[in-house]
Amino acid sequence: MGLIDLLYPPLCEICGEKLTAPTYLACDDCLGQVAFKGYFLEEFSIHGDVALDGAWCLTDFEPTMQHLVHLLKYSRRTRVVERLCDFWAPNIRECLKKMAYDRVAPIPLHPRKARERGYNQVAKLARWLGVHHQIPMTLDLLTRTRYTSTQTQLSAHERHSNVSGAFRINATVKGMNILLVDDVLTTGSTANACAAELKASGAKQVHLLTLSTPSQMDT
Ligand SMILES: [Zn+2]
Repeated sequence: MGLIDLLYPPLCEICGEKLTAPTYLACDDCLGQVAFKGYFLEEFSIHGDVALDGAWCLTDFEPTMQHLVHLLKYSRRTRVVERLCDFWAPNIRECLKKMAYDRVAPIPLHPRKARERGYNQVAKLARWLGVHHQIPMTLDLLTRTRYTSTQTQLSAHERHSNVSGAFRINATVKGMNILLVDDVLTTGSTANACAAELKASGAKQVHLLTLSTPSQMDT
């Protein structure tokens, strides 16, 4: 522990209690209150053909997760990724052992968002999975070929036409099982557009992994 930690002990971002090393960002009690779900979703409310074969969602988008994802996306707290993934490492292992993935790759951020943020939290998640699950990670497996407007306010149909054909594949994926990575799953239309391109290039199965999803709430 450094002097700075003695003078200003780090506090849990959720409950405000003092943290003791090696814990960081949030205390184990707060994280322990988030239920690990490990959903494997196979149905998506996507307009058009479904190319995505399934999506792992680690948790519901409950208040603690909303808080953590907000820190991750808007407050430059990229350590949220390591903290959550390390905390749930055995659970994630249990999920991912059901399929042998040949590649893990982040869904490319919207270039404007990447510029505004100056970091890529999704790439961090892909890297963690690659390292801990011995899956080769290709950071730029997909790139955006055109700008798309932000998806937040769009309907399922609009989301589909907004992202279809917006991605290019930069490496050989023939016969491979691909694990795409994003932070939050909403409709899956962006992942589906990526999956369609990957399948067109010969990928066998395409799955997505996200930290959280609001889609299972209220169902
Ligand atoms: Zn706490």
